[in-house]
Amino acid sequence: MEGVHYVLHAPQGDTYADLLFTMIERRDQRPPVTYTTFQARDLGGDTAEMVKTSVRDAYNRFSPQVMLVGESCTAELIQDQPGSLAESMNLPIPVVSLELPAYSKKENWGASETLYHLVRKLLLSKALPAGTQRPERDLAIRPKANIIGPTALGFRCRDDIQEVLKLLGEIGVDANVIAPLGATPEDLMRIPDADFNICLYPEIAQTTCDWLKRNFAQPIVKTVPIGVGATRDFVAEIGEVAGIDVSQVLNRSRSETLGNWNVSRVASSAIPGASRMPWYSRSVDSTYLTGKRVFIFGDATHAIAAARIATEELGFTLVGIGTYSRKFARQVREVAKQHGVEAVISDDYLAVETAVAEAAPELVLGTQMERHIAKRLGIPCAVISTPIHVQDVPARYSPQMGWEGANVIFDDWVHPLMMGLEEHLIGMFREDFEFAEGHMSHLHTAPPQEGNVDGVAAPTDEPVASNDAKHKSMAAAPDADVDSMGWSPDGLAELKKIPFFVRGKVKRNTEKFASDRGITSITVDTLYEAKAAIGK
Ligand code: SF4
Repeated sequence: MEGVHYVLHAPQGDTYADLLFTMIERRDQRPPVTYTTFQARDLGGDTAEMVKTSVRDAYNRFSPQVMLVGESCTAELIQDQPGSLAESMNLPIPVVSLELPAYSKKENWGASETLYHLVRKLLLSKALPAGTQRPERDLAIRPKANIIGPTALGFRCRDDIQEVLKLLGEIGVDANVIAPLGATPEDLMRIPDADFNICLYPEIAQTTCDWLKRNFAQPIVKTVPIGVGATRDFVAEIGEVAGIDVSQVLNRSRSETLGNWNVSRVASSAIPGASRMPWYSRSVDSTYLTGKRVFIFGDATHAIAAARIATEELGFTLVGIGTYSRKFARQVREVAKQHGVEAVISDDYLAVETAVAEAAPELVLGTQMERHIAKRLGIPCAVISTPIHVQDVPARYSPQMGWEGANVIFDDWVHPLMMGLEEHLIGMFREDFEFAEGHMSHLHTAPPQEGNVDGVAAPTDEPVASNDAKHKSMAAAPDADVDSMGWSPDGLAELKKIPFFVRGKVKRNTEKFASDRGITSITVDTLYEAKAAIGK
């Protein structure tokens, strides 16, 4: 936001948070945050006085229109009540005191609460009496929407906003306020002027949207437009909420052969209102994507959207899904249930790693953490959600939402997979000295296989596929005890004929089949019996 300053009671060193904005997001200004930066020697003195001095200095230096005051986890322990202290100073601007329990809540909750308290502070006095209906919209005036939820450090928020503005433009809706990203306190004061609120990132926006609904009778548009189907639903929901006809845009979004070769089609690709993804995923080259086993993890919004795209728009099979957003666990569990899997609701990356290894997917869609997990397991991966590193704040236009977002998603998710022809050839000819197991020539590298995918030991004279051979495959770790059950040499040789990206799953299934029947040495026959039994 602009015009808002934050005084954070925090020990020396907490200024590391600045780097998230100046390095990962590459902002050209210091964040509007003043830290009290107390040290050990200050603890014997008056740390509360440091809060007051910081608030006063920040007010004089930055002249904000609103001041936020809060504490970091260490400051929470010394209980100086910085918010109340600041409120008692009678500054001529609103002061929002933040109570963010650092030992039980996390970042998204903090952002959601802060936005809610800020909006509430500024708008409470204007709230409509309970039970008031909004007057009918004057049909001669275009409907107006607020876009609530985009923040600094959000996943592709910068470009998602552009896509959503384009979508609104197509259906004749004006944007009233976009908040918090880029908004000023004056903008927040204009929120009640809109006909409805678009809850674009529920993790951040839902609490505020619910409050606005209760106090200003503003309906909420809840569909998050990530993916072609969801974007169509988003447009349809706005049509309903705003009482406007969106059928033209929905029809146009069904022209499915955009982006191809003759001039009229190239020209048509410039028409807004359609994504290339439906045609790309139906074109013949995408046939080999059908049934690819995918594991999804991230914040709930992106994980749920990704599950729909993966299964309905790309033809993948969902073999695992999870989130660290506990508040939205129920919604993620519902999606998991539809696909017959158990949701992973956890912020423990080891639990996620175990679940990924267990599901043995061919593609992981996750956060920066899952990228590391997938690297260790030798599985292709794409990032779909925060937490992210600097490469996911790219210079190029890369939304996730709307029609163009679906194009970006198609490219980003398919890219890490082995291309169809190479996948086929490696399955047929295993002895190639260059295009060996696990090799993906389009990436100039290979996942770390070390000739050892999912615990299947490679003969030592086989070429090492990986150029990163020092990484041990971790895939076998969670079920190391299963390995001791033993494979006969012929069984193992047969197992190694199975393309590497599905081998982990076959191995696990066969071992389960054998252990259920008390078979101690797995032969070729066991392998095929298991295959036949599971295929039934
Ligand atoms: S533990 Fe808390 S107070 Fe200490 S550096 Fe980390 S965020 Fe800051």
